[in-house]
Amino acid sequence: MNKTLIQNLKGRNFHVHEAETAAQASQIALALIAERSVGIGGSKTVKQLGLYDALTARGNEVHWHWMADASEKQKERDLAIGCEVYMASANALLEDGRIVEIDGTGNRVAGLLYGPPCVILIVGKQKICSDLDHAIMRIKHDTCPENARRLGMKTPCAATGECHDCRTSARMCNATVIIEYPLRIHKEFHVILVDEELGL
Ligand code: SF4
Repeated sequence: MNKTLIQNLKGRNFHVHEAETAAQASQIALALIAERSVGIGGSKTVKQLGLYDALTARGNEVHWHWMADASEKQKERDLAIGCEVYMASANALLEDGRIVEIDGTGNRVAGLLYGPPCVILIVGKQKICSDLDHAIMRIKHDTCPENARRLGMKTPCAATGECHDCRTSARMCNATVIIEYPLRIHKEFHVILVDEELGL
């Protein structure tokens, strides 16, 4: 684990949890959530961990637009933001402890900034970046093109694997948010660091 990152996250008042494996990260998240309702932002990491199924199986109220029919997605996004816990991943973690998120629709960054009072981010080790330039490059080259392909979005990056700073209706990088410290609305802001590559 990156000790500098951990120290810097703690210095910014984020609660840090270390997991050697994805399975351990799931157990930590489930324990933190307990019986509370959960909204989930778009996250391949959360999907990979099977947390939606684990939560619904044990009876938590869960709202995740990825699991809803097209006609219900917006309603699920809205309900997610009204839950007791919001769970997602980060697009990047900077070594100085700042969290970087790039969003297309806005529900994920809304949930992280002015949504539930408890936030849980689960972050695989490939998302740790030395600085902001590195983070933006990683997101635009590694995350967005793959996400665009997965979602069938006709962005230039889906075709070439490179960012063209596009001006299309399909653009996925519409807001870049840097979280420097938990917001005043947050009672708990957890970051679960996983010593495996997870998500995009
Ligand atoms: S700005 Fe457009 S081309 Fe660049 S990564 Fe985002 S969606 Fe892809």
